[in-house]
Formats: sequence, structure tokens, C-alpha cells
Amino acid sequence: MINRVHNFSAGPCTLPLEVLEEAREEFVNYQESGMSLIEMSHRGKHFDAVHNEAIQLAREVFEVPEDFCILFLQGGATLQFSMVPMNLLGDKCKAAYIDSGSWGSAAIADARIYGSVYTAWDGNEYNYSRMPSLDEIHIKTNTRYLHITSNETIGGIRFVEWPDVNVPVVADMSSDYMSRRIPWQLFDVVYGGVQKNLGPAGMAVVFVRQSILSACNKNLGRYLRYDLQLDSNSMLNTPPVFPIYLLGKVLRWMRLGGGIEAMERAAEEKAALLYSAIDNSSGYFSSPVDEHDRSVMNVVFRLPTPDLENLFLGEANGAGFVNLKGHRSVGGCRASIYNAMPRSSVELLVDFMKSFQLSNPA
Ligand SMILES: *Cc1c(COP(=O)(O)O)cnc(C)c1O
Repeated sequence: MINRVHNFSAGPCTLPLEVLEEAREEFVNYQESGMSLIEMSHRGKHFDAVHNEAIQLAREVFEVPEDFCILFLQGGATLQFSMVPMNLLGDKCKAAYIDSGSWGSAAIADARIYGSVYTAWDGNEYNYSRMPSLDEIHIKTNTRYLHITSNETIGGIRFVEWPDVNVPVVADMSSDYMSRRIPWQLFDVVYGGVQKNLGPAGMAVVFVRQSILSACNKNLGRYLRYDLQLDSNSMLNTPPVFPIYLLGKVLRWMRLGGGIEAMERAAEEKAALLYSAIDNSSGYFSSPVDEHDRSVMNVVFRLPTPDLENLFLGEANGAGFVNLKGHRSVGGCRASIYNAMPRSSVELLVDFMKSFQLSNPA
């Protein structure tokens, strides 16, 4: 087998090796059909089984209550930045948004095109180094929903306590899907692109509370309507067959691995390994974010100087630890440690960080 690297990419990112190998085994001749899954009709019996199993698995593994429907939609999380306000926000009410970083800001910019939007808390004044506490979130009257980004992939912060406000919450959970339980009672819509924790790029998994569908805007193109997507079981047009197929496999892998509770425990443990390496480096490695709000998926850190950071990234790369460079908008380093990242890779990275510090004093 070819050597696989320790891939700390923020997304698309490392996927479970077992899943990749299983997909390879059955790729060319899917279940003796004489063709691959991506060459056959999406309305035939093979894909139909794959599609419905993926929906069922998502319901089971995410522990989704009956009153939420599950949609597989193209356009990633980004299309949901538009679909959420298009569907939920009429001209009689407004929407509150938390500006917690790059993704929160992007969601706000798109929502403003479709309705009346205000910032209920602005993290820009804190250089996006923390999330708001509940009493800092200001909800105005006549607000339809509060939009949050549960985990800011670039800034490396997350909501530790969910915002329990007096309006329904809508959450972009792209980068911490399946890393902790979702308190469904707070939410009307939960969405996320699948390429961080659930599969390959190409779609979003969207959970919508069924009771809000009848009030959703009907004056939209068919693809953009949550109600019509549900009516067609996400088969309004040709669905992204390959992402759906791999999503099913990843969800089965997560179920086999103990489900949400086991995923959460593993994520906390891996993050603790890295943060304690940072905290015990006598300030050589440092975290730019508030300790309370540190992400367990995207660990952002710095070295004493930009030169040392470049040297670190170069040597890490040579040692098989790849994609540790922070996002171009913030610099520094970032280790994304999604569910498929083996604990052993994180342990090896910690060892590497320690020996780098010894050989390259500040
Ligand atoms: C990656 C990411 C997005 C963008 O996802 P796309 O699927 O590329 O549209 C949005 N929000 C968050 C939090 C992300 O991590």
C-alpha cells in the first residue's frame, strides 16, 4: 500500500481509511451490476437503497428527532447561507446573526441580500478570539431566528454552551458535525457541508424542523425550497450520488465506532493532547484564542516568529505531517483533527512539536 500522510487539512480532509478501501473494492463493479454506482440511474434500485440508507443512518447516528427532516442538498454550506434567509425570512421579520469569524461573516453577507439582518454580537472587536456569552447576545423584537456558526473553522473557536435564546436558532455546523450531541429543541435548521467530518465535498446535510415548512417562502425556484426538497426526498433533480454513497459509509463507520458519544470523547481527548502540548511549551507554541472557547476540531497555534513558523511547517511536511498551515487570512498554524484523524497521528504530531522546539530554540 502507498504511504498515507498525517493529513491535518481543514477540508476536504482526511477520511477513514476503512471507508476509502471499501469504496475502492466495490467501485468498478457495484454489487455485481456490471457498472459503478456513479454510472447508473439515480432512480434505480441500487442507488435508491444507498440513498435511503444514508438518510436512515443520518437519523440514527445524529440522533435526529422525528419532527426534523433530513435533506441532502448541493451547493455546500455556502448555498445554505442563502437558502436559510430565502426560506425563513419574509419581509415582516428580521434575523439575528452572530459574527464569530470568517464563516459567520460570510453567512451575514449573503443573508443581507434577502432580508433585514442585524448582528446580535460582533466578535470583530475581539479579533474573533472568542464566542459570546449568553448575556452578550442581543435579540431584538420580531426576530425570526438567531444564526450561529457552532465552530469557526478558520479562527479555531467554538460555542461550548449553546445559545439558549428566546427565538429559534439556525446553525452552521459544517466543521463540528458529529463531534458532539445537538440539542435539537433549540434549533429550526441545522446545516453543514459534508467535507469536514462526513465525506467528500459536494453537498450539505440539512436538518429542518418540519413544522416550519408550511410557512416557508414559496416564491422561489424549486431547488431552493426546503418543502419541495422534502416532498421529493432530496431527489428533485439528480442528487450528488457519490457524496451520498460515501456519507453512508462514513456514518456506518461512526456507528461502528460507538456513535456520537464515542466521537465526542475521542475528539475531546485528541484536542486535549494538542492543547496541553501548546500550554506546556513555556510559551513557545501559543494559542491565540480564548481558552474557554477553543475548538476541538481546528487547533490554531503560533510559534515565536514567522520564520520559525515557516521552518516548522516545512519540516513537519517533510516528516509526513501535512496541511498544517493556517488559513491564508490569519496565518500561523492549524491542525484540523476531525473524527477520522487517528489519535496516533495526533500523538506523533505532539512528539514532533516537542522535538522541533528542542532543536530550534526561540
Ligand atoms: C467549510 C465551511 C463552510 C463552507 O462550506 P462549503 O461546503 O465549501 O460551502 C461554511 N461554514 C463553515 C463553518 C465551514 O467550515
